Amino acid sequence: MLPQRVIEELENKSKEYGTRRVLVQLPEGLKPKAKAISDELNSLGFEPIISADPCFGACDLRFLDNAITLHVGHSRMLNLEPVVYWEYRYDIDPSTAVEERISGINEERVGLATTVQHIGFVGKVKEMLEKHGKEVFIGKGVRTTYPGQVLGCDAGAALSIKDKVDSFVYIGSGVFHPLMVAYQTGKKVYAIDPFSMEMQVLTGDKLLKERSLRISKAMNAKSFGVVLSTKPGQYFPEIAEKLVKMAKKQGFDSTQIILDLITPDNLDYLGFDAYVITACPRIVIDDWKNYKRPVLLPDEFYDLLDM
Ligand code: SF4
Repeated sequence: MLPQRVIEELENKSKEYGTRRVLVQLPEGLKPKAKAISDELNSLGFEPIISADPCFGACDLRFLDNAITLHVGHSRMLNLEPVVYWEYRYDIDPSTAVEERISGINEERVGLATTVQHIGFVGKVKEMLEKHGKEVFIGKGVRTTYPGQVLGCDAGAALSIKDKVDSFVYIGSGVFHPLMVAYQTGKKVYAIDPFSMEMQVLTGDKLLKERSLRISKAMNAKSFGVVLSTKPGQYFPEIAEKLVKMAKKQGFDSTQIILDLITPDNLDYLGFDAYVITACPRIVIDDWKNYKRPVLLPDEFYDLLDM
């Protein structure tokens, strides 16, 4: 099951760091593979330790003393070591599904976006779209490794080409990533699932309306908790410090709050009127309705201070 490249990298890091201990981090969808992965690592002479904590992305790296982290399902985002990334790419060729749905894609100039799992097929899908007369653009994000790759927090690969295209074609399952592309670019996204061959047409309208609603709900707040996460790729202390300073300057009561996993249970009872979350933006975008108090993204808080 483990690709040869991953085994070789583990062996190299093992020699470099003088340890056979491997901390295995898996996203929720791959957790059922934990036992099989640990069996294979054992058979290769490693000492696996499975991290059963939730793992939401490459922002959420965990380390143990004297152990190499095997981070599964994401590509490198942070320059922290010792880590081996197993990107867990899919073999299925998505160009078949895109070709099946091409008659529903109305625009000629399209941008291409996907997750790391399908990134190996970006060139093939581009060629196929061009064969059907489309002009195809592929951009590059800030926190991502590959051209065309997007994350739930980084649609930069799409944003960087948004002025050249009229819509986006997204390859992958679900709406988590393509909704971010639609929201951040303001363009229509054709989300094509290579497994089901289904296509959904998405816009960011609903998320934009919710953004305004969040700001209006926080308008009467007098105190703001500015929330930091200790997850290494979600820890932005300079932003938090700046937000607290700005809030205080405008007469609000404001304090930084720090924790690992940001949930309604952890925030709702701290006594602030509203919260600004500097960590993963999807906590606000996807879960804001679950919080008893208004929660805002930093840019939403800036907008509110400007009103
Ligand atoms: S910050 Fe959020 S969206 Fe970005 S990689 Fe981490 S969990 Fe995913």
